[in-house]
Amino acid sequence: MHDVIIVGAGPAGSVLAALLAASGVKVLLLERESLPRRKPCGESLNPGAVAALARVLPAGKFAAIRSSMEHTLIHGWRLTSGKAELLAAFPAGQFGMACAREKLDYALALHACEAGAQVIEQMRVQRLIWEKGRVAGVVAYSAAGTHAEFRARLVIGADGIRSAVARCAGLSSFGPLRKTAFTARVSGVRVLQPRVELFTGRGIVVGLAPIGGGEANMTLAQLSGSGSAAALAASFNANARGKAPDTTEADNRAASVVSNVGRSAWLLGKAGELPELAERLQGAACIGEVLACGPFDRRVRATQQEGLLLIGDAAGYYDPLTGQGIYRALSSAELAAPLLLQALESGSDAPLVRFAAIQQSRFAPAIRLQKLIEWTSRHELLWQSALRGFGSLPAARSRLVAVIGDCL
Ligand SMILES: Cc1cc2nc3c(=O)[nH]c(=O)nc-3n(C[C@H](O)[C@H](O)[C@H](O)COP(=O)(O)OP(=O)(O)OC[C@H]3O[C@@H](n4cnc5c(N)ncnc54)[C@H](O)[C@@H]3O)c2cc1C
Repeated sequence: MHDVIIVGAGPAGSVLAALLAASGVKVLLLERESLPRRKPCGESLNPGAVAALARVLPAGKFAAIRSSMEHTLIHGWRLTSGKAELLAAFPAGQFGMACAREKLDYALALHACEAGAQVIEQMRVQRLIWEKGRVAGVVAYSAAGTHAEFRARLVIGADGIRSAVARCAGLSSFGPLRKTAFTARVSGVRVLQPRVELFTGRGIVVGLAPIGGGEANMTLAQLSGSGSAAALAASFNANARGKAPDTTEADNRAASVVSNVGRSAWLLGKAGELPELAERLQGAACIGEVLACGPFDRRVRATQQEGLLLIGDAAGYYDPLTGQGIYRALSSAELAAPLLLQALESGSDAPLVRFAAIQQSRFAPAIRLQKLIEWTSRHELLWQSALRGFGSLPAARSRLVAVIGDCL
């Protein structure tokens, strides 16, 4: 039997698995997908996330991961809306990093393996096993449909925004469809800069981040309420030809290529409605699949139960606009590891209760600020005034970018 089962090999799950396994804990890491896998994301780690990786990985490991993949060091933000612009640099000596998520996540999962965790891919957790009022394991299905039961002293839900673990424990619910987002890799973008750029206007926000190798991540979301989220999703889907149920696998692959061509054109056209992007995207092309995602309001009633802990997005999520999710995923793994060790040694769940309280106090103020920024971004005139205001106040601007960058 394992000491700990971790569900989900994203940054939170893999880093926690590695930290625990390196301390001699018997860890089983279950991942639904075959790795490496793509994930809808702006693919930009803020300075807090970069610093967290440098802390949680053994000396030299992060440098080795970085040199094994294309990436760009990110030095700040550029926000534009109409004629308003805000340029903000991270504090001296601190930087973020943009890279292909599947490569980073794969490197972290490999690191968990090397540290001694057992990793099983293509194993989707569907249910929790309860014994005497405690979570005692999980029921999972392989890609071939084979059913398996795994038991452990503690189960960790690190399975992302749509966490099956949180749902099965009755801890989570979705809020309204406030926003949908579409994300793609784009080549041929003119004048890529070593910063995250956010363009707002015409009811949309578009993020650009250079991920190395001449490619950029482009993520587009609508800014207004649920009606336009649904309309945007419908417009995206109208650009895809559905798969007919009686077609062959080859037909389905061809249909999927056709639908992706339509979706790529739709995404580039939609982003190009913003004048600066129309110019910078001339001659640009999407590479690979356009991914769609939403809703984002994942509400969690509690992040802990007897025998169970939630970390990363599984512990609650609000919005991708400020690009802080990977930092929170890594930090929650870093915070959880010593408390899980204490819980295993003492046989008591008290450290897990403490973790839930620490996680709440660590992240709650930043989440409140994130909600304020996200709300402001939906009101064009207010947003433009905010950009101009912070642009003219260097101290306030530096403070804001340091907080959003989780630099403090
Ligand atoms: C559009 C968008 C843009 C974003 N941009 C940024 C950004 O630029 N910067 C940033 O810091 N953050 C960004 N985020 C947030 C960031 O992607 C997440 O916060 C981060 O990935 C959370 O990591 P995690 O390990 O908690 O979960 P995830 O990375 O989601 O990993 C969860 C893992 O669990 C697996 N899984 C799911 N269900 C099961 C199951 N039932 N059984 C087994 N395995 C399962 C999944 O396959 C996945 O591998 C963005 C999010 C979105 C939606």
